[in-house]
Amino acid sequence: MTERSIVRRIRGTDTSDGAGVKLKRIIGQPGLDMLDPFLLLDEFRSDQAGDYLAGFPEHPHRGFETVTYMLAGHMQHGDNHGNRGDLGPGSVQWMTAGRGILHSEMPQQENGLMWGFQLWVNLPAKDKMTDPRYQDISPERIPMAHPSDGVEVKVIAGELFGVVGPVAGVATAPVYLDISVQPGAQLEIPLPEGHSAFAYVFDGGDAQVAGEVLSRSELAVLSKGTSVRVAGRDAAARVLVVAGKPLGESVARYGPFVMNTPEQIHEAIADFRAGKF
Ligand code: MN
Repeated sequence: MTERSIVRRIRGTDTSDGAGVKLKRIIGQPGLDMLDPFLLLDEFRSDQAGDYLAGFPEHPHRGFETVTYMLAGHMQHGDNHGNRGDLGPGSVQWMTAGRGILHSEMPQQENGLMWGFQLWVNLPAKDKMTDPRYQDISPERIPMAHPSDGVEVKVIAGELFGVVGPVAGVATAPVYLDISVQPGAQLEIPLPEGHSAFAYVFDGGDAQVAGEVLSRSELAVLSKGTSVRVAGRDAAARVLVVAGKPLGESVARYGPFVMNTPEQIHEAIADFRAGKF
């Protein structure tokens, strides 16, 4: 076993996207452009309706996957192929945009807390033009692992101590874990050795990650290795641990289109304008 260590720390930058939704962009900003295969990580969290009400009206995607994990609040999703879904607290939507969809993600509440994450996961060149696919996962379908006292892990993708997450058939063989750790409790999380991985403390107090203190709203990029150690400190904490197989391919990126070459980006824009999504 080679334990992973922290190679880099980063905090999100405040920005807005969609029709003016305020959010924190953690991956996909000048300080951390990408972490192959991860292109973007946003955390949206506000109890001020004005920060989120405008939502994300119709917009396209091509060439990658968007993963929405709702912690609080309701978002309604709809696309131009007739897919509709309500994303409620604790639910996950793993959307493979493939060759293209046009969709909207709109809040279904006028007050209260709206909180969650959106992660963008790149697709390998051979899958960028695949058929769009949705994995809509309700909270009760997400299994929990209890590896040790004071530790609970929601396994959204990947496998942990024999508990298998519901997300399946994703090219980058992702691991997506929501870890709750009590003060003094600890666990060692096995991760595929060559996967890129990060940890992000999103609730409660500080956590101990790879032997170092990681504070709330801080993301740690982890070194390669077969496991990472996470422990609680003075207060309970929640930590996202996400890993994926790096693609090692060229990335041409323009807003909601992520391809391998500039020519493919021009083609995506032309197809979008021609109504081919
Ligand atoms: Mn979108």
